[in-house]
Amino acid sequence: MTETSRKAETDFTLFDSEDRVLEHASTIIDGLEETTDLIKTLTTAYKRAVKDQKRMVRLCDRMQEELIAVKERLEGEVKARAELAEQFRMQAITDGLTQVFNRGHFLELCNHELKARSRTEAPLSVALLDIDHFKSVNDTYGHAAGDEALRVVARTLENSLRQSDVVCRWGGEEFSLLMPRTNSENASGLADRLRKTLSEIVIKEGGTSFSLTASFGVATMAGPNPACKATGADAIDLLFKDADDALYKAKDAGRNKVITAEARVLQTAEAVD
Ligand code: GH3
Ligand code: MG
Ligand code: MG
Repeated sequence: MTETSRKAETDFTLFDSEDRVLEHASTIIDGLEETTDLIKTLTTAYKRAVKDQKRMVRLCDRMQEELIAVKERLEGEVKARAELAEQFRMQAITDGLTQVFNRGHFLELCNHELKARSRTEAPLSVALLDIDHFKSVNDTYGHAAGDEALRVVARTLENSLRQSDVVCRWGGEEFSLLMPRTNSENASGLADRLRKTLSEIVIKEGGTSFSLTASFGVATMAGPNPACKATGADAIDLLFKDADDALYKAKDAGRNKVITAEARVLQTAEAVD
């Protein structure tokens, strides 16, 4: 090979490697462009995701606020319903005029007390009281005054009784007392104190004022327990029959009096049959 041809070969080899470098550079540039496009796509997607996320957060906040409002509304409604249910319950067990328990609820409490007796064997007393000559109160002072008298009597009884005692409006101008764990003597004493208290109150209504008296019949269940079968209703009937008979005697004896029936000792067989 001549000197000239060797030089030409070297020059061409140089061109070849330059071409390869250029080719390589072009490949790199293509790669960079691809990467740039990818970054652009990713950035766009990221921006969209952030935007969506912001929208979601705002939506969540709004939903949370709405949920809190719904929760508060529901809580208010539950409270109102509970209050209404309690109002209905109280209406069902109290006497509308005097606000003391009505007869139905009172008898339930008597039953309950009777069952409790099966464990304690404690005496149990009741009293019936009837306002004397109440018809003449209405006739003399008017029906509104009669109503006020009933309210005052109920309040006086409630305020005078011990915490364990219960008062109810038995009906009309009659009231009834339940005195758990009270023997005949103490029940009689309590009734007499109430009789005296009632005779001392002055009822004021419509510009007039007047007093009244009441008669009491007291009955007691003492000694062994009645069986609690038949929910003790028979025993309660007997007890109130005794109290009613005693009340009748108190009226007969001139009113404003307490008459106490002889305490009953109920045996199992007597209470069930
Ligand atoms: P006694 O001493 O024998 O018990 O006589 P009394 O007049 O109290 O008994 P009577 O049974 O003759 O009359 C009861 C009266 O009670 C008649 C009735 O109008 C009245 N009364 C019953 N319930 C109410 C009421 O809710 N309001 C008023 N104002 N009067 C009532
Ligand atoms: Mg009466
Ligand atoms: Mg009466």
